Amino acid sequence: MSPKDARKLMVRRLIESGIIKSAPVAKAMELVERHLFLPSNMKEHAYLDTPLQIGEGQTISAPHMVAMMAEGLDLKTGLRVLEVGGGSGYHAAVMAELVKPDGRVYSMERIPSLAESARQNLKTAGYEGIVEVIVGDGTRGLPDRAPFDRISIAAAAPYVPEPLKQQLAENGKMLIPVGGRYYQELTLVVRKGEKFIEKNLGGCVFVPLIGEFGYKD
Ligand code: SAM
Repeated sequence: MSPKDARKLMVRRLIESGIIKSAPVAKAMELVERHLFLPSNMKEHAYLDTPLQIGEGQTISAPHMVAMMAEGLDLKTGLRVLEVGGGSGYHAAVMAELVKPDGRVYSMERIPSLAESARQNLKTAGYEGIVEVIVGDGTRGLPDRAPFDRISIAAAAPYVPEPLKQQLAENGKMLIPVGGRYYQELTLVVRKGEKFIEKNLGGCVFVPLIGEFGYKD
C-alpha cells in the first residue's frame, strides 16, 4: 500500500472510532506525511496507530493522541500555538496545517539533537515557514512570544506549570497530560481572566516533562 493510501486508511479508522470528529482535523491528518518524521528503521510502521521510537529514549506521539489533542484544542486558522515537547515535529506539523496560513506554531524541545532533526523533518514536509523549533525548557514557556491562543504539551507533567498558565491568552486553551510518571489525565485548561477552568478528557501515557516546573529528571 502507498503511504498516501495507508494514511487514508488510518484516518478512516480514527473517524470510525470517533476520535476524529471534524473535517479540518481529518484533512490535516491525511495531509501530514508521518513517515517523513521517522528514522529510516521506523518508516515502515509510520501509519500504525502507535507511538514509535525517535531516538534519545523519546517517541513520536500516536496518531490517535495527535488527533484527540487537535480536536480538544479547537485549532483554527490564524491562531498562535505554543507546543512543549516537539519531538519529531509531526504533531507540530498537524497543528500547522490547522492554523495556516496566518497562524504560527512555536515548538519547544529540550533535547538539541531532536530539535535539529525536527527542523529538518518540518522543512522536508513543507512546514518550515509556519513552525519555529526552539531548544529550551518548555515548562518556562516562551515569555517573549506570549500570549498564546493555544498551548499543547506532549509530555507528562506533575502539575500545570504556572508560567504556561500566565502565557495563555484570554479564553485561551491548553492541553496537558497531568499525573504520575506512568499514567496521566489529559487535562484541558481554559483561561477566563485570572481563573483557570480545568476539565479531564481521559487517561493517557506520555514520557515525562523534565524541567524547572516539571519533573526534575
Ligand atoms: N509530539 C511529538 C511528536 O509528534 O514527535 C512527540 C513528543 S514526545 C512524546 C515528548 C517530547 O517532550 C520529548 O521529545 C522530550 O524530549 C520533550 N520534553 C520533555 N520535557 C521537556 C521540556 N521541559 N521542554 C521541552 N521539551 C521537553
